[in-house]
Amino acid sequence: SAELMHGKRGLIMGLANDKSIAWGIAKACADAGATLAFSYQGDALKKRVEPLAASVGSDIVLPCDVDDEESIDALFAALQEKWGKLDFIVHAIGFSDKSELRGRYVDTSRQNFLTSMDISVYSFTAVVKRAEKMMTEGGSCLTLTYYGAEKVMPHYNVMGVAKAALEASVRYLAEDLGKDNIRVNAISAGTIKTLAASGIGDFRLIMKWNEYNSPLRRTVTQEEVGKSALYLLSDLGSAVTGEVLHVDAGYHVVGMKAVDAPDI
Ligand code: NAD
Repeated sequence: SAELMHGKRGLIMGLANDKSIAWGIAKACADAGATLAFSYQGDALKKRVEPLAASVGSDIVLPCDVDDEESIDALFAALQEKWGKLDFIVHAIGFSDKSELRGRYVDTSRQNFLTSMDISVYSFTAVVKRAEKMMTEGGSCLTLTYYGAEKVMPHYNVMGVAKAALEASVRYLAEDLGKDNIRVNAISAGTIKTLAASGIGDFRLIMKWNEYNSPLRRTVTQEEVGKSALYLLSDLGSAVTGEVLHVDAGYHVVGMKAVDAPDI
């Protein structure tokens, strides 16, 4: 209902196009009555993000490259001026050199390891640190992670290591900010065909594998991630913090799926 997020103001980071997970979350929040601001990376994305933002009634669209502290400061200074207070943030950002999202993890370069950790892990902490100051009446912070943090997935490589660190940071941030009623959670999303995902080797095969092997026998949509995000971002999740919620059609619980076994 449009009541759930009525009066809540939230920042959505990581919208690239209408396939982005950030878009599924933004729509769910807007449908529930939230007022949204968006940040985008680089001028090329501005013209994509502006019309999407407008379609959910938002005219606050600001640049932010999370590898740059000044850029993050400028984003929050602008939000402080426009809104003064903030109720939630969504961090749907990750990056790794796509030439290292195939082949062996052991071949990861030092430079790409550091870049992947910087943009995919530290940026969430950097953003939460700024958001904390504006969440004067409590708040909810959400990031996106993937099963490759927990188990080895083909080609995910350094991103798996980065997501493991991101999930650990969710727990530490939850403890730091809990005293101020600011909750920090992650959604571990099933595979969804997005711009970022298309950089991962054999992504189509991984999607198919999820479809065949998850308990629900399918993949998930950005709308479904949006619905679960709404739970964590709204009062429905008021006692939930430090959590990694799997929105993956149940894929993470399966050791081996039941099949009609031939005579073994
Ligand atoms: P996407 O390509 O739509 O979004 C990735 C976003 O990261 C883009 O908007 C990009 O601009 C932004 N970004 C990258 N580097 C940045 C930087 N330096 N500064 C600011 N923004 C930067 O892809 P997506 O799949 O929607 O990815 C969103 C999140 O969801 C990522 O953290 C990703 O790892 C995670 N995730 C995706 C899947 C999937 O299957 N698609 C599954 C689980 C988790």
